[in-house]
Amino acid sequence: MLLAMDLGGTWCRVACFERLGERLRAVRRLPTRPERGFFPLLEELVAASRALLGGMVPTGVGVAAPGPLDPKRGVLLRLPNLPQWPEALPLAELLAERLGAPTRVDNDANLAALGEHRFGAGRGVDHLVYLTVSTGIGGGIISGGRLLHGVHGFAGEVGHQVILPDGPPCGCGGRGCLEVLASGTAIVRRAQAAGLPADRLAEEGAAAVFAAAAAGDPRAQEVIAGATRALGLGVVNLLHVFDPALVVLGGGVTQAGEALFGPVRAVVASLAMPGFRETPILPAALGDEAGLYGAAVVAAEA
Ligand SMILES: [Zn+2]
Repeated sequence: MLLAMDLGGTWCRVACFERLGERLRAVRRLPTRPERGFFPLLEELVAASRALLGGMVPTGVGVAAPGPLDPKRGVLLRLPNLPQWPEALPLAELLAERLGAPTRVDNDANLAALGEHRFGAGRGVDHLVYLTVSTGIGGGIISGGRLLHGVHGFAGEVGHQVILPDGPPCGCGGRGCLEVLASGTAIVRRAQAAGLPADRLAEEGAAAVFAAAAAGDPRAQEVIAGATRALGLGVVNLLHVFDPALVVLGGGVTQAGEALFGPVRAVVASLAMPGFRETPILPAALGDEAGLYGAAVVAAEA
């Protein structure tokens, strides 16, 4: 029995797989509620895991966690988006002690890439680039069938490639990163500045901007054109660096469908080097469960 967890959002999820490759069945969801700190959540995760396992001991545990983190040691570093959690949190060790099984921890976007590679839109494709466009932009690189980690385990920070050196400041300390130009948060912020109605933006996020653009609002069209152009440029850079057979785009913002994929493909067709222009750019297949599937893969290797 493999235990998979995804701690990468407002809700944490825990799932069990009898064997790798089977479809996801029972999933338990728990609110992350970062304001209460980390340890109450840890105990809830352990209780939910035990309830799912029904007395069985898992052979391995895999965890998709927010970065930055050290995947070799399974330690979460200082998390800019979760300042209430302790710094240098030994998550793998804490879970292994409580669940009695070897535990592997990796970045949530990296594990979503691995999930799509093994069981989703990239099944059977050994060279692929995955981007998730939601409140932020993350991703993962699969090269030769392996997840690329780099020396610190930080590889795949595709959202922090610089697209516009004099652009708006980014949470990472840089400027003009892809994330501050094309994430859902960035699209909403730019739409607000352009004067789109704040109540709809607050309720529906980037989807409201895509809807307004489709209805002919020129302000929304300009915001979407800017964001999709930035995303297209990001994809061009990744094509040139990694030469993947496939680019997979996931995350809530990609629900916009052709309104996002069309302009991204157009930028690639016009700005990528000739050998890269035909690379397929496809929607992710596993939705927000990709991270759990990827966590199951590392649980099997734990
Ligand atoms: Zn950045």
